[in-house]
Amino acid sequence: MSTKTVKIKEPIKYLRSTNRKKGKKYTTFLRGLMIRKVRGMDTLAAELNKEAFKKIDCLDCANCCKTMSPTYTKVDVKRISKHVGMTYNEYFDKYLYKDETGDIMNKKTPCQFLKKDNKCAIYPVRPKDCSGFPHTQLKDFKLFITGTHKQNIEYCPITLNIVERMHEIIIEKGKTNLTAKDAKS
Ligand code: SF4
Ligand code: SF4
Repeated sequence: MSTKTVKIKEPIKYLRSTNRKKGKKYTTFLRGLMIRKVRGMDTLAAELNKEAFKKIDCLDCANCCKTMSPTYTKVDVKRISKHVGMTYNEYFDKYLYKDETGDIMNKKTPCQFLKKDNKCAIYPVRPKDCSGFPHTQLKDFKLFITGTHKQNIEYCPITLNIVERMHEIIIEKGKTNLTAKDAKS
């Protein structure tokens, strides 16, 4: 049986209230998922990713641009600085810094390119990390749990929704052979 996709109109409100009530449970679930024996994990994750993007419009949210920094590559910095008419060094000094691990990050949040309507002022040339965010579309969901998804359930309603649905299907319904259909049930 398939269900109609219900839009989440206020993603940040959803993020905060769900994390307040169930955040710890979902973090524990993600930790356990690394070793849990289930089949079809990536098929389910890909379908839940599509569903979450239908439910949540990033323009109603922009929480990543408001509260996190993308990690820039040097190629990103080169492309963006050229786009805004600055040299690499001018751009770096004004907006970026290297953190303790050597990653290139924004000096401030919200991002300097976030507009009032939640759109990105440099959308066509934005950092690769931004265009790929929240990385839930990547193959091998488990591989990105520790470094990415476990952190992002606190910041990204799309990631949280995927994990919430996974928990429902795998824990509450007890499914171990996962298929794309499970994402719709
Ligand atoms: S990727 Fe996640 S945090 Fe960023 S705007 Fe979309 S839902 Fe919000
Ligand atoms: S560059 Fe654009 S997409 Fe990336 S954080 Fe800034 S506003 Fe958001």
